[in-house]
Amino acid sequence: MTNARDTAFAAALRAAIRGEVREDESLARHSTYRIGGTATVVLPGTAEDVAIALQHATAAGVPWFALGLGSNLLFPDAGLEALVIRMGKGLDQATQAGDRWTLGAGLPAPLAARRTAAAGYGGIHKMVGVPGTVGGGIVMNAGCHGAEWRDTVVSVLVVAPDGTDRVVPAAEAGFSYRRSALGQVVVLETTVALHEADPKLLEEETEALYRWRRDGTPFNQPCCGSVFQNPVLPADWPEGDPRTSGQFIEATGLKGLREGAIEVSPMHANYFVNTGGGTATEVTTLMSTVQSRVAARWGVALVPEVKLIRPDGTVGTP
Ligand SMILES: Cc1cc2nc3c(=O)[nH]c(=O)nc-3n(C[C@H](O)[C@H](O)[C@H](O)COP(=O)(O)OP(=O)(O)OC[C@H]3O[C@@H](n4cnc5c(N)ncnc54)[C@H](O)[C@@H]3O)c2cc1C
Repeated sequence: MTNARDTAFAAALRAAIRGEVREDESLARHSTYRIGGTATVVLPGTAEDVAIALQHATAAGVPWFALGLGSNLLFPDAGLEALVIRMGKGLDQATQAGDRWTLGAGLPAPLAARRTAAAGYGGIHKMVGVPGTVGGGIVMNAGCHGAEWRDTVVSVLVVAPDGTDRVVPAAEAGFSYRRSALGQVVVLETTVALHEADPKLLEEETEALYRWRRDGTPFNQPCCGSVFQNPVLPADWPEGDPRTSGQFIEATGLKGLREGAIEVSPMHANYFVNTGGGTATEVTTLMSTVQSRVAARWGVALVPEVKLIRPDGTVGTP
């Protein structure tokens, strides 16, 4: 097995596609945490480029990792040996047929939310506050304010490691809370069923949601959103005790706690902010400290929401 840092591998891929292949690309540039070492990153220009990148990686035994806007993950300081397939421009179309919209995986979800709302269609308008791509939103079944992607998805177009594509109906996508079960595939696009609504009302709603997020979370600072999932608590959990991860962390007195340049946000305790030059090791160390302090105080185990990426592109503890 070779790895994606192999210059011959990168050169062969570059020659085969219309998009770009960048070697030694800083992953910090591609994560909202602004953290991560380097990797070989392919920026596919077309769906065919994605298929070719997967075929090259599969044939060479090179692991690969599909990346959106990097808003729900932590890349390792050592970077990745896996080929990073960054879904963005060229894969960001939005087309409409009645109430059905087909959205490219590389389209930022807030843009998809605003564009459909402006055309008088509701259903994904609440995604205005989720700063990832459509593809990342589908894979994570992202959501907020009571809406999630699975509410509107009709089908998902995916491409498999051998380069073949297929349409997965929503019922077979395995959506659950902040998860899907699409497996080892790259999402190319999704078709959603929206409903007609007054664009003015939708705009008012999206603006109110956006302001709520801007004022209640460190929205524009380098972070990855919620670090931990909300815990599942026993039915007899006492009224008045913390319930969400943020409340547990705050009630343990950990707001403002730091590890190097990473800080538990004083604004919202379930957000860790990179105050400048922070590392993945600092994030995981701070996560462990917070987990053990909350467990010691409340007997509650906080489970990561953020995906911790290993150098081979798999997800799990480093
Ligand atoms: C400030 C802030 C607020 C947030 N608020 C919310 C919120 O309210 N609700 C919520 O659900 N999330 C929230 N998030 C988390 C994050 O924005 C979502 O999970 C988002 O959907 C991730 O999309 P992404 O494109 O950034 O995915 P990435 O972080 O790039 O990737 C996440 C996972 O999806 C996979 N993936 C991405 N694109 C593809 C693709 N095309 N094909 C196959 N796999 C792919 C990656 O391999 C990875 O496993 C927040 C994040 C931040 C920074």
